[in-house]
Amino acid sequence: MYKRILVPIDLQDTVVAAQVLGDAAYIARASGAVLHLLTVVPTYSMSIVGSFFPDGYEAKALDAARTALAEFMGAQDTPDGAKGHVAHGTIYDEIMKAADKLDCDLIVMASHRPELKDYLLGPNAARVVRHANQSVFVVRATNA
Ligand code: ADP
Repeated sequence: MYKRILVPIDLQDTVVAAQVLGDAAYIARASGAVLHLLTVVPTYSMSIVGSFFPDGYEAKALDAARTALAEFMGAQDTPDGAKGHVAHGTIYDEIMKAADKLDCDLIVMASHRPELKDYLLGPNAARVVRHANQSVFVVRATNA
């Protein structure tokens, strides 16, 4: 049914990311779909925060994210043929851009970090659910 599935991965929370990848892998195997894992290095360059980072931090952060994503994929039961992508920018924007660019027909992501119990949907999940051109499967992450 689905051909290309985008899985946005927050590498700050690999427990939740592993849970999301598990669900996405199940759907991919049932559908014969290819998984595209995406992690976004957020940009702070437009804000006052960005001015405190040293020159060249972005290239280093992107390299570190590439390495961390490859390690994460290697440590999980990632389906054959899955591809890893790293983007830089506003998280929800980059998720939606990648979904369009990679011609994905489904996005599988977590609702929010489990410790933020008051949120029904985190800020990035909420925007993607509202504005993406694709169907979005929201995994209710737990801390179990
Ligand atoms: P919270 O603030 O509780 O983490 P979010 O909406 O940011 O809520 O996170 C929900 C989901 O959004 C994550 O599980 C992940 O799928 C996606 N996401 C969050 N941050 C990133 C990131 N830096 N790169 C890719 N996806 C992300």
